[in-house]
Amino acid sequence: MGTRVETLIVGAGQAGLTLSHHLTAHGRPHLLLDRGRVGERWRSERWDSFKLLTPNWQTGLPGLDYRGDDPDGFMDRAEVVDLFERYARSFDAPVHTGVAVHRIRPAGGAWCVISDHGSFIADNVVVATGHHALPRIPMEPAVRLPADIVQLHTSHYRNPQQLPDGGVLVVGAGPSGQQIAEELALAGRRVVLAAGRHRTLPRRYRGRDAHWWMHRMSAFDRTIDSLADPQAVRSTPAFVLAGGRHDMDLRRLVARGVTPTGRLAGVQGATVWFGDDLAATVAAADRHRQEFRNSVDDFVARSGVPAAAPDDEPPPPGAWVRQAPRRLQLDDAGIHSVLWATGYRRDFSWIDADVFDATGEPLQRRGVTTADGLFFLGLRWMYRRGSDTIHGVGADAEHLAGVIARRTVAAAVRA
Ligand SMILES: Cc1cc2nc3c(=O)[nH]c(=O)nc-3n(C[C@H](O)[C@H](O)[C@H](O)COP(=O)(O)OP(=O)(O)OC[C@H]3O[C@@H](n4cnc5c(N)ncnc54)[C@H](O)[C@@H]3O)c2cc1C
Repeated sequence: MGTRVETLIVGAGQAGLTLSHHLTAHGRPHLLLDRGRVGERWRSERWDSFKLLTPNWQTGLPGLDYRGDDPDGFMDRAEVVDLFERYARSFDAPVHTGVAVHRIRPAGGAWCVISDHGSFIADNVVVATGHHALPRIPMEPAVRLPADIVQLHTSHYRNPQQLPDGGVLVVGAGPSGQQIAEELALAGRRVVLAAGRHRTLPRRYRGRDAHWWMHRMSAFDRTIDSLADPQAVRSTPAFVLAGGRHDMDLRRLVARGVTPTGRLAGVQGATVWFGDDLAATVAAADRHRQEFRNSVDDFVARSGVPAAAPDDEPPPPGAWVRQAPRRLQLDDAGIHSVLWATGYRRDFSWIDADVFDATGEPLQRRGVTTADGLFFLGLRWMYRRGSDTIHGVGADAEHLAGVIARRTVAAAVRA
């Protein structure tokens, strides 16, 4: 037997906390377990100079809107942690910190949740352990690198001093990869950036922040039901932005002294090969920027929203696109570390339920699975474009809290 609880939420990031907020509003008893502290990933899996990409005015949680005096600013790591701590306190969230869940399995119409602090029996279990959960590192090149090359995933990167002296090969040109590449270059490091598929956005366009436009165009509220191919959209790269008023793209990095290359194609000892795809990658990223500009221009024309004149387009990429190295000898180039900015994966093998697809991702609809009483929250495009964001998860949490409350009341009526 274990401690009996009506609803158990695993994970006290924004997903778990917003669900707790809504269950509290429904008057439904529940517990939140987190192996770390509230908002643990913002504390221990982001670098020191980290800033949110989302502006402050947008960085609210259900029942806790931003009320500071810098709505157009971007929170740093300490401010984000403070936000989550204040949020948990604001409704006295029933969080048990330092409790890691190791297994979830069916138990006679309920769920047995086994943690390192004992077992729980729950009618409802919500897995809110994060979409950006585990480092995704391409194994083949990683194991082929020489042993004296320090390898680090972005979730373990803190600051340039953490890396051995010398140059750094950054693999991946998403928002984390580009921001960290810039930080390393500014710290005087030689940086080579192997760029894969990414999507750029102008940080500001026609006098407004990109997120302001997306908010006005209801882009974050788009649901998977409006998409032809929901699976494809779940694997599209995140927008490359940085918290600030400037654009973040390869042109900016080149101006900082970074050397972009095509995708990492192979590794043999200290020799690294890159694909011949940088020009195509940059063209695709630029196309995305242009699509965004077009969608704002159309919206301004249709809605009559006051807007500044369209900004100049960025200049075409320079010779660096054509002259990108195809081969690099790490030792000759003085490169002693590789930073994997290659994204995240999830592992739900600790959940004993037949609710996963062939790739291990949960099969769910708005967080509800076919296993009675087992739910997920906070996954990318789980229902909305904003499902895995601070500002977007609340709507999914509200829906799920309603489902859980109705299910629980119905079960009580039947009993
Ligand atoms: C680098 C980066 C930058 C981002 N920037 C932004 C941004 O600017 N704006 C924005 O809105 N979103 C941003 N996101 C996306 C998203 O907001 C974050 O990924 C966020 O952390 C997701 O919150 P979550 O609650 O779903 O999951 P998480 O924050 O991952 O929380 C999950 C919690 O579950 C706990 N946990 C995991 N496994 C267990 C277990 N077995 N037992 C007990 N506890 C467990 C963890 O300790 C953690 O506290 C960013 C993501 C990344 C990776």
